Amino acid sequence: MSLSEFALIERFFTGLGAERGDVTLGCGDDAALVEVGGTTLALAVDTMIEDVHFPADAPPASIGHKLLAVNLSDLAAMGAEPAWALLALTLPAVDENWLTAMRGGLDALARTHGLALIGGDTTRGERLTASLFVGGPVDNPLRRDGARPGDVLWVSGWPGEAAAGLACWQAGERGDDVAPLIERLHRPTPRIALGRALRGLATAAVDVSDGLLADAAHLCERSGVAATVRGADVPLSPALAARGGAALDYALSGGDDYELLFTAPADAGEAVRRRAVDAGVAVTPIGAITAGAAAVTVVGADGAPLVAGRTGYRHFDGNGK
Ligand code: ADP
Ligand code: MG
Repeated sequence: MSLSEFALIERFFTGLGAERGDVTLGCGDDAALVEVGGTTLALAVDTMIEDVHFPADAPPASIGHKLLAVNLSDLAAMGAEPAWALLALTLPAVDENWLTAMRGGLDALARTHGLALIGGDTTRGERLTASLFVGGPVDNPLRRDGARPGDVLWVSGWPGEAAAGLACWQAGERGDDVAPLIERLHRPTPRIALGRALRGLATAAVDVSDGLLADAAHLCERSGVAATVRGADVPLSPALAARGGAALDYALSGGDDYELLFTAPADAGEAVRRRAVDAGVAVTPIGAITAGAAAVTVVGADGAPLVAGRTGYRHFDGNGK
């Protein structure tokens, strides 16, 4: 029997170890929440492996940027403020030029968000692998489990660009028309300001790492609700729309965007838009939360269900990288 990534986590790691009163939220959200001296801290870790999470020939400064960005994205999904990071790095060889560039990408994004690297571990191994642990304080955190029937489902920015960018990168396309897509693949923008702005307003949030539909399903599962996504309302950037018929498929199922997918009460639309403007990012209502069992349905303009061509990427399922 092949065990999916999520079944594996559930079976082997959920509930492992002592039960502690200072853990507000354990496995299953974008970050864990713990209480320390009256402060809530959000804690998360993500790993990037060469040729799994980034192409081996990606620019090293972008690898440093992306390593931090994907982790900050999990803090963004909780509404947390980035503060600290620990870096565990496994290198096949020491290449000083590569390390200098990678450090530069990591350092620039860390400074932008006021985050300090405070420790880590360095080892030699066959494949370049980098794990970053991040943490930071949060008041009134966002979680995946607060969506309620009647809420509106929103997405930030332009989903699908990163997956289209990966297809272009792998096909050797490097033209100006695909540059925005490749930029989004290599240098995603963590939506920290938006996540912080949505505290107290959004009822649930998740960041889009596996794909819009897959991550919507994670949010629904945790909240015990279902969702309907209106395919025609999913925003397509000009660069993605130019890819033609595959554009919506990328937007619904492509991973690696690090946009925020969130829910808010139906009467909170104006407030959501105002806070998003303050956070400097576009947000679009794309669907509705309904009562039911964790299913996400995509409907066309006529309200009839559409079938998405691909599902979100999962490790260990053999359906992707
Ligand atoms: P994300 O995509 O937001 O980083 P993941 O899909 O990697 O989240 O993980 C889903 C949930 O499972 C998270 O809450 C994460 O902390 C937890 N998790 C993943 N792997 C493990 C593990 N080996 N042990 C304990 N918890 C894990
Ligand atoms: Mg996440």
